Amino acid sequence: MESTLQGQLKSWRHHLHQRPETGFEEVDTSAYVANILKTLGLEVERGIGGTGLVATLRAGSSARAIGLRADMDALNIAEQAPGRAHVSLNAGKMHACGHDGHMSMILGAARLLAERRDFDGIVRFIFQPAEEHGRGAKAMMADGLFERFPVDAIFGAHNMPGMRAGTFATRSGGIMASEDNFVIHIKARGTHAARPHMGIDPIVIASQIVLALQTIVSRNLDPGLQAVISCTEFITDGIRNVIPSNVTIKGDTRSYSKDVQALLETRMREISEGICRTHGAQCHFEYTHEFAPTVNSPEYVDLAVTAARNVAGENSIDANVQPMMISEDFGAFLQAVPGNFIFIGNGETNARGGVPLHNAGYDFNDEILETGARYFAEIARLALPRG
Ligand SMILES: [Zn+2]
Ligand SMILES: [Zn+2]
Repeated sequence: MESTLQGQLKSWRHHLHQRPETGFEEVDTSAYVANILKTLGLEVERGIGGTGLVATLRAGSSARAIGLRADMDALNIAEQAPGRAHVSLNAGKMHACGHDGHMSMILGAARLLAERRDFDGIVRFIFQPAEEHGRGAKAMMADGLFERFPVDAIFGAHNMPGMRAGTFATRSGGIMASEDNFVIHIKARGTHAARPHMGIDPIVIASQIVLALQTIVSRNLDPGLQAVISCTEFITDGIRNVIPSNVTIKGDTRSYSKDVQALLETRMREISEGICRTHGAQCHFEYTHEFAPTVNSPEYVDLAVTAARNVAGENSIDANVQPMMISEDFGAFLQAVPGNFIFIGNGETNARGGVPLHNAGYDFNDEILETGARYFAEIARLALPRG
C-alpha cells in the first residue's frame, strides 16, 4: 500500500475514473473497492441490492454504529478531456459526477480508521449502486441493508463545483429536493378543425390544466415553503386540420418535505380530474416518486459541522447553506435513519474543479480527496467517542 494518504487516494480515484460503470452494472468497481477494503482488514459483504456492498470495521466494545456512504455509478457521457492521463477507458461512459472521488474519500476514511481505531463502536462503509437513477438506495434497503447492518446514523457527501475547494456546506432540514414525475392523459373526442362543436377538444382542456397547475405553488402552498411544478412535455395526436382525441402532459415536481409532496400530488390530481370532468373528457393521472427529499437531522448537522471545522478550519464551513432543488438518492436512506448530507467544494468556477457536474469536461479535484477522507474519519471519531 502506498505510504502517503494523498498518493493512495489519487491512485484509487484515477483507477476508478478510468473504469466508469453505470447504475447496477458496477461489477468491476465493486470488486475493486471490496478488494481494497479486505486488504485493510475489514469484513466485506457484496451483492446487496445488486452491486452494492457494505464493509464493517469494529473498535472497542460499544454496539453503536454509523454508516458512511459512497455512490459508485458513472454516467452515459463521452468524456472530452484532451491530455487527461486518467481519461475513461470505457467508451461513452464517464465519472462526470465525481462518484470516483466519493469512493476514494470513503476508502481513505476506512484506511485512517483501520490504522487508528480511535473510536468505540461499529463503522459501516456503504457503497451504493445507481445513485443517478435514484434506485440504488431503495434496492439496498429492500435487500435488508439496515436489518442486516443496523446503523444509528448515516453520513454522505457530494462534491460541488462552484464552491471553494475543500470547504464544506450543510444545513438542518431539507438540503436537496424530492423529485416526482407525473403523466396526465386526457381522452376527449377528436373532430374536424372546422367542426369543433362536434367533438371535445383536449388541447383546450389540457391548456387549462397547465395554467391551473401553476396556482398550486402560488395559492395552495404556504409561502414560507418551496416547490416547483414544471410541465415539460405536451403531446397530441392531432394534425393541422384535425382536433385530436388525446393529449398527454408530462412533467416533474420538486419539494423539500413529504407533506409538500403529498399536497402537490393531491391538488394536481384534483385539478386535472376536475377540469376534465367539467368538459366531459376522461382523465388518467399518474404520479410517481423518483427521489425522496434529503432532510438532515439537527443533531447530526452539529456533529458534521464540528467534524468539518476540526478538519478544515473555522472559516471553511457554511452551516446554513441555501438548499438545492436538485435531487440525491441519499435522501432515501435518511427516510430510514437520521443523519447528515454535506457538500464539499470541488473548486470555484474558472478554477481547478470548477467545471459543472455532468459536463463532459468535468473532473473530481484530487486536492480535496484527503480533506474528504479526514472529514469522514472525524465523523466516526465524534459519533462513536471512546469512553
Ligand atoms: Zn450526478
Ligand atoms: Zn452525483
